Amino acid sequence: MTDTIFARIIRREIPATIVYEDDDVLGFKDIAPQAPVHVLFIPKNEAIPTLDDVRPEQAHLIGKLALAAAHYARSEGFAEDGYRIVMNCREDGGQTVFHIHLHLLAGAPLGRFGTPG
Ligand code: AMP
Repeated sequence: MTDTIFARIIRREIPATIVYEDDDVLGFKDIAPQAPVHVLFIPKNEAIPTLDDVRPEQAHLIGKLALAAAHYARSEGFAEDGYRIVMNCREDGGQTVFHIHLHLLAGAPLGRFGTPG
């Protein structure tokens, strides 16, 4: 299994601002936030490099990441205003850490997305 910086955060070997945790999911603040709220949700018990590597029997993990993000949004009081979740896949998607993660972005109206460049 390839080690990543997120695996080290799960093992508490490097610091992170952890804001959510359950049996399967860890949520922590992005170190370089792209919005007033920018939290990453990652699976704790399985190190899957990219969305393209998720096997059918692991599909529930993607739902757990999304539900953890939605729970966090409600608990922090910005669900009604809205938010965006993003999962980058490989080079053209802008992925830099190869342990699947869901970005939760919120706290202000967000611009459109998908522009090449
Ligand atoms: P991606 O580009 O989709 O792979 O997202 C990786 C994200 O991880 C980026 O938004 C980084 O800012 C973030 N990141 C990298 N290292 C850390 C860290 N040690 N703690 C928190 N976020 C990190």
